[in-house]
Amino acid sequence: MCGIVGYIGNERAKNILIDGLKALEYRGYDSAGIAVLENNKITVEKSVGRVNNLSNLIDQKEFNGCVGIAHTRWATHGKPSTENSHPHSDNSSTFSVVHNGIIENYNELREFLKAKGYNFLSETDTEVIPNLIHYYYTNFDSPTEDKLLYSIVSAAKDLKGSFAIAVISSLYPDRVVVTRKDSPLVIGTSSESNYIASDIPAILKYTNKFYLLEDNEFAVCFKNSINFYDNNMQIHNKAMKDIEWAANSVDKAGFEDYMLKEIFEQPNSIRETIGSRLPIGSKCSFDDLDISYDYLKNINKIYIVACGTAMHAGLAAKNMFEQLCKIQTIVEIASEFRYRKPLIDKNTLCIYISQSGETADTIAALKLAKNNGAKTLAISNVIGSSITREADYCLYTHAGPEIAVASTKAYTSQIVMLAILSIHFAEILNTSTKDYLEKIKSEILDIPSKVQALLDNKDEVNHFASQVYTEHDMYFLGRGIDYCTALEASLKLKEISYIHSDAYAAGELKHGPIALIENGITVIGIITD
Ligand code: GLU
Repeated sequence: MCGIVGYIGNERAKNILIDGLKALEYRGYDSAGIAVLENNKITVEKSVGRVNNLSNLIDQKEFNGCVGIAHTRWATHGKPSTENSHPHSDNSSTFSVVHNGIIENYNELREFLKAKGYNFLSETDTEVIPNLIHYYYTNFDSPTEDKLLYSIVSAAKDLKGSFAIAVISSLYPDRVVVTRKDSPLVIGTSSESNYIASDIPAILKYTNKFYLLEDNEFAVCFKNSINFYDNNMQIHNKAMKDIEWAANSVDKAGFEDYMLKEIFEQPNSIRETIGSRLPIGSKCSFDDLDISYDYLKNINKIYIVACGTAMHAGLAAKNMFEQLCKIQTIVEIASEFRYRKPLIDKNTLCIYISQSGETADTIAALKLAKNNGAKTLAISNVIGSSITREADYCLYTHAGPEIAVASTKAYTSQIVMLAILSIHFAEILNTSTKDYLEKIKSEILDIPSKVQALLDNKDEVNHFASQVYTEHDMYFLGRGIDYCTALEASLKLKEISYIHSDAYAAGELKHGPIALIENGITVIGIITD
């Protein structure tokens, strides 16, 4: 899933759209494109490779319109190519669409539309969308005056899968229409301008005021107003959210890349996560979490469900809940949990962790638990994200925007949040002594300065990295919580350096993997206990 940006206002859309795409580059992509409306005509430009290629291309052309949509594509259907890049248009070039996600029934829809005389110019799943909109627009009478909205709502109802889409039409030059299902989309608003994006940082420099679109919700964005509808075309009011992230928190602040910057932000991000939750000498402060003794004492187990790094944060927390609160705790990968029948009921607490709050498998796993009557608690870094809206309870890590795709500061903040939560539960349940909990609390309060000391020692880390960066295989070993760290370290190494790596519980190496250990292989033992 990649990037969407949209704009409607008084400025030239082109510059805002290209800036937005650049702000989304960190997500990775293979091609980019833009569609701008001017004088009731849509002009589309696309290019394979970097956003800069697209920007150079349109610099040579007249692109003065003040309404437009743009996209960075990460191909799922059809190779990366100019034809497959978004925006895609219908055969008559009346409707232009950018789409994030996957249309699972695109083949069926394509065959249906082909039988009606539509041609397809790309290999994408996306191209069925503008043509379906055209099909509804030309063949059906709208029950309301808003025929464009009617056609988009009807087309969206036919789509199976996940999508965030933004649509412009040469017949309606005063608006951009957007909708979403299982793929994020936000609308930023300021006087005389509205901005659309798949991710908040893309438009944070223009506004802090956001509308977070719900699944199956539609927004018709004009220059000065936005109307929100459900999928029966019923209009409704929607609350705006102030996003407190500072615009400069999404630049690199002099670091070579976002990941390094975020690693160095950890003393502060952990401090923010702790906030005022750990007052010395008194109980943890969780005014935002209404969980009672009666509920907790009847819990049969806790499930912690997440993907990737967030799942490793959950693994690190398992022992905390079991030892401090005496509640059996099971950690599970969201994509496994959602496709089986886990044993959960109203006495199971399911905790879901997702930095962005938009991880599709985690959201689906959360819905499954809700449908089975379990209580759900979300831990996320993004205010108002999907997971926080779905869950019964929600805790924010307040780590600040994490731009790097490989998580660092969000991970440590998740662990800290889970640690504090386990202390809170233990205090409610009275399952650990006050002295012991106080000792852990003061250790947690010391973490930011300890992390700082570690970061101050970066030369030693650099020296070690310079000795091993050409290796092909590396192993990490650890026991207990160090094993969880080993798993996360190994994941990070693979993702960032492309070095093959595995992590094992310390006692497991001898049960097979040792066969791969030979002279010169680097094995990193994590021994913090
Ligand atoms: N499935 C669409 C395509 O392959 C959209 C991919 C994306 O989210 O970037 O074109």
